[in-house]
Amino acid sequence: MNDIRLDLGLRPVINVSGTMTSLGASIVVPAAVEAITRMLPQFVETGELQKLASRTIARLCGSEAGFVTASCAAGITLAIAGTMTGDDRAAIERLPDTARLPRDEVAIQAGHMVGYGAPVEQGIRLAGAKPVMVGQATSAEAYQLDGAITERTAAALYVVSHHTVQYGQMTLEEFVEVAHARGVPVIVDAASEYDLKRFLAAGADIVLYSSHKFLGGPTGGIVAGRKDLVRAAYLQNLGIGRGMKVGKEGVVGTIAALEAWETRDHAGIRARETEALGLWQQALAPFAGVNAVIDPDPTDNPLDRLKVHVDPAAAHITAWDLGDALASNAQPVIVRDHEVEHGYFYLDPCNLHPGQAEVVAARLGEELEIARRSNTPIASDFAERRKRRAVNRWPD
Ligand SMILES: *Cc1c(COP(=O)(O)O)cnc(C)c1O
Repeated sequence: MNDIRLDLGLRPVINVSGTMTSLGASIVVPAAVEAITRMLPQFVETGELQKLASRTIARLCGSEAGFVTASCAAGITLAIAGTMTGDDRAAIERLPDTARLPRDEVAIQAGHMVGYGAPVEQGIRLAGAKPVMVGQATSAEAYQLDGAITERTAAALYVVSHHTVQYGQMTLEEFVEVAHARGVPVIVDAASEYDLKRFLAAGADIVLYSSHKFLGGPTGGIVAGRKDLVRAAYLQNLGIGRGMKVGKEGVVGTIAALEAWETRDHAGIRARETEALGLWQQALAPFAGVNAVIDPDPTDNPLDRLKVHVDPAAAHITAWDLGDALASNAQPVIVRDHEVEHGYFYLDPCNLHPGQAEVVAARLGEELEIARRSNTPIASDFAERRKRRAVNRWPD
């Protein structure tokens, strides 16, 4: 097999974690790979290419217009910048200085001020805007959003993600109703959401997606929505957006990925994912202290994961030590372990190549068998592990 990772001395990762930037995001679909390969050696009028992207995005998202930028994170900053400057070129060049702009505040629910590898509120501040927190982490209500909005409010940002607090938050419909009553546009960060139409249909003015997550596109971000706001966001490429530049390959690859999404065999993919979950459940069944249940996606994407609870007394290993053991091999299997201190991790089936589900099943069995035969439970100190992982000695 022609695996560039082996040529470079890099470990051939099997990803059962999800679409993680730290693992290379997703498998880029063949149509996008082909479009990118054909475009890379050519010159092209990038404004025309982005017009083509706008038409494709408009068709798939049900928006008036759209463009492709470097990432969804870039989309947050550019969209917010656009709500402050409109198409005023001088104001665009002055950002992130907002001293002479009438509006530079962005309302966001406290429970939405999360991190996706970087803080969402930094994406706001990067444009020169000031985040204004709405409510408390555990609850936000219409009167609190209404009270947070002033004549200085440029936009309201709504985040859709498993990272956000999953209770006590305003629905997007409520959020839009309050913001629109005060003349404030709503921007939705839907980076990882499969549904390309739902948020604009619910009244959002701009919605942002990652090209490189569920779509299987190259690294990029999709900005879709109201034409005036999309245009104002696009014009930031002449200002703060320069450092968030997307290349011709990112634009053409995103267009191809969007078109492939339209014709993708979603039911067939779902069936293969379900098969993988069943296979892993079977592989785990013989082991005492391991309980694996199918867990639907928390933000209603049509995707299930396997939630694997590990009782260290019965299984002779903790959930995090099992995850670490799977990751320590020459062919590392990386599990979804962001909640592993609770004694479980997830296996995500949506980034597998043929044959890899079987490798994952075999590796689970191997490591659990080693644990079963171990006289003392394999139980490292979780706090120590956390400390160890917090240290980043790159490039050493
Ligand atoms: C992944 C993610 C982002 C960042 O997306 P990039 O395209 O990688 O910048 C932003 N918001 C949410 C909710 C995400 O899940």
